Amino acid sequence: MIFDLILRSDRVVTPAGVAACDVAIQGEKIAAVAAAGSFDASAAKRVIDMTGKIIMPGGIDPHVHLKWYSPHPDGSVTLTDGPEIVGRAALYGGTTTMIDFVRWTHGKTVQQAIDERHKDWTNNCQCDYSFHVMVEGALPPEIFPQLTHVLRNGYPTIKMFTTDITPSRRGRMVDFGDIWEVFKVVADAHGLCVIHGEDNDIVMHMYDKVIREGRTGFENLAEVHNAMSEDLSFRRVLGLAKNVPGIAIYFMHVSAAFGVEAIREARAKGLPVYGETLHQYLMYTSEDYKKPNGQMYHTYPSLKAQTDQDALWRGTVDSSISTVATDEVCCSLKAKTQGKRVDDTTGGNVGVEPRVSLMYSEMVGRRGYTLEKFVNLVSTNAAKIMGLYPRKGALTAGADADITVLDPSRKFILTKDMLHEQDYSPWEGHEFLAWPCLTVLRGKVVVEGGQFLGDVKDGRFLPRKISGYIRGGAML
Ligand SMILES: [Zn+2]
Repeated sequence: MIFDLILRSDRVVTPAGVAACDVAIQGEKIAAVAAAGSFDASAAKRVIDMTGKIIMPGGIDPHVHLKWYSPHPDGSVTLTDGPEIVGRAALYGGTTTMIDFVRWTHGKTVQQAIDERHKDWTNNCQCDYSFHVMVEGALPPEIFPQLTHVLRNGYPTIKMFTTDITPSRRGRMVDFGDIWEVFKVVADAHGLCVIHGEDNDIVMHMYDKVIREGRTGFENLAEVHNAMSEDLSFRRVLGLAKNVPGIAIYFMHVSAAFGVEAIREARAKGLPVYGETLHQYLMYTSEDYKKPNGQMYHTYPSLKAQTDQDALWRGTVDSSISTVATDEVCCSLKAKTQGKRVDDTTGGNVGVEPRVSLMYSEMVGRRGYTLEKFVNLVSTNAAKIMGLYPRKGALTAGADADITVLDPSRKFILTKDMLHEQDYSPWEGHEFLAWPCLTVLRGKVVVEGGQFLGDVKDGRFLPRKISGYIRGGAML
């Protein structure tokens, strides 16, 4: 058999460990992972020797918002940059799959919301993608059978907010009665709930308080979206989950030590509870709000204290935190810094492109994590939890040939003009200890030597199904 491509290195991150391997690709799939040198040059149309570099599964970002509603201080709403911008940047940075959201709102069916969302993405994304379904507000009774249907047909994750987030976004939160009903439906249909957990009473109380006291600057965001609020909300969600057998929970953007602790306790009881944090929360604290253009580092809930950041890092070690996402919102620096108040600052960040390399630099480079641990946190765990494994997130025979090659000899200080998203980066000035030199999407070389070879028609929608072992208990 003549393979299409063989990638060879002394450091290949496989499910069985890091080893010197040949990764043989046929069509869109990995055909074989064998000891380095198993195949000679005649075994493939092309053999690329990457010795000295790290071959890993393509990154998976389980939390992005592309072509997404972005409210502004003047009351206007614009859309953030779409998949055609961010998909390209993702591949440049070694991320081959992103999970975004379908937003269900009143007056349409869940299926209509899904169909509309597909129009934004079809033939408009260079990397693969999938969708969580977000529901909001008071849920009409007819929505529950609709959710059962989509849960069983490729959309197995339902997102809910326990807060309106800001006073101007009223209508976003789902109350606990409806969350209870959704939990029952999701458990029955073998899905997973993804939660934005903050205590609405505390958040809105703090908005009233800081506004009354005239402390309206965004540098006070950590007081409003505080750690106690995360604690109260996570524990209330988990208390509800205790009463719904079979419900699996994924807390998005965990930001505080209290959140990590609540997840750790639930997992110690064997419950199927998983935590995600964001690279912003691992790298910045609420002190960074005081820097020039400090809104750059913000996303909701908020940056917290150094002790919270330390706890998030510990969470990545003991698996209370399973994934590192971006909460990508791709907009210009002008749009990002337009809101200057606690109640109008834009959430999300530009970050899909540097995420994998940044986390390599911090985890492997500066903290001594193993390559396997790092790959779990930026790719494999997201694939496992979100129902994409082993098609994604694994270098193994039969998997999609989504491959990133990291070059650890590329050490540099990041400047925004190196990137392919917007006109700013929260990571400008940061020292990186690696960068991808090759990205492969389902067998196609899409980035090589800084050259982009992909196409907006390359990305494919990924229907998902949550595996029994993820729903059965704290498996990662
Ligand atoms: Zn988000």
